[in-house]
Amino acid sequence: MSANVREIDRDAEFDSQIRPQQLAAFAGQEKIVRNLQIFIKAAIMRDESLDHVLLHGPPGLGKTTLANIITNELGVSLKITSGPVLDKPGDLAGLLTSLQEGDVLFIDEIHRLSPIVEEYLYSAMEDYKIDIMLDKGASARTVQIKLNPFTLIGATTRSGLLTSPLRARFGIQCHLQYYDNQTLTGIVERSASVLNVAIEHKAAVEIASRSRGTPRIANALLRRVRDFAMIQNDGVINPQITRIALDALDIDKRGLDQMDNKILNTIIQKFGGGPVGLGTIATAVSEDAGTIEEVYEPFLIKEGFIKRTPRGREATPLAYEHLGIAINRAGEL
Ligand code: ATP
Repeated sequence: MSANVREIDRDAEFDSQIRPQQLAAFAGQEKIVRNLQIFIKAAIMRDESLDHVLLHGPPGLGKTTLANIITNELGVSLKITSGPVLDKPGDLAGLLTSLQEGDVLFIDEIHRLSPIVEEYLYSAMEDYKIDIMLDKGASARTVQIKLNPFTLIGATTRSGLLTSPLRARFGIQCHLQYYDNQTLTGIVERSASVLNVAIEHKAAVEIASRSRGTPRIANALLRRVRDFAMIQNDGVINPQITRIALDALDIDKRGLDQMDNKILNTIIQKFGGGPVGLGTIATAVSEDAGTIEEVYEPFLIKEGFIKRTPRGREATPLAYEHLGIAINRAGEL
């Protein structure tokens, strides 16, 4: 087994230990949780499958976790796939016909479904049936297959890329928001307790405040800080060891990582603070434009470091202050 595979296995094991299993253990996103509780209860009372659910929001905020929790709460089975994996309608048909009554099918990255597979999904979602084409040429004919009622949970980081017909078929739509520091602190403390790691409250606050509002990052930083604490501090995570570890990982005080800072620096130093187009920024920092738009930009906008204007991205005074760069009156360096 390669070191990489071992690391991925360890990540998966860590993840499965700390992933909440019930809605009651899912921190934050209060409105979504409250609504889901009602919809799930009502579906169970009516003995019907839950309406289809669309989960959208930046990566690492708990879409996969919520799909697992919904399945647990419904007491059904879960099948997981993702948009790019479903190459042909036949791949989807195989999955759909294997679902038992009320089961959940989770499609991650649903915005990446091919148009032909997506079209197939429409009748499955609406009427629980699919038309399968048999043979080719003159003897080609379609056979209709009835499916068991099921719930489709689609997850996407790019809801803007979903087609309207697909989006309209989701009766329940949840937009996950970045988490506040208090909720993230609770998540870090819960993960530490599940993993049997001693952590001081102030250290959990420090990790939370540097996690870009994202539970996945908070849990990943907890793992790394735990390593530092084991080697340098008898395993106890206190604020001092936390700061040493996070500084060593180049996570700054506002939770921005190297790429966040590189993006801000590029807009300011190379493009006079903007406005500058996304593609230009992407080339300058050698990162994929989609990744910048999906992963980095939403947090930088939310925290007030950049703003989107019709002419491109602009650095705000906060970004200059953060990087310790003075703005002159013309807005140039
Ligand atoms: P992606 O879109 O990148 O797949 P995601 O939105 O599906 O991300 P998850 O994989 O569900 O994110 O969550 C990432 C990690 O954060 C998991 O380890 C999960 O246990 C944890 N997590 C997410 N949301 C919460 C929450 N509300 N409470 C506690 N832990 C959470």
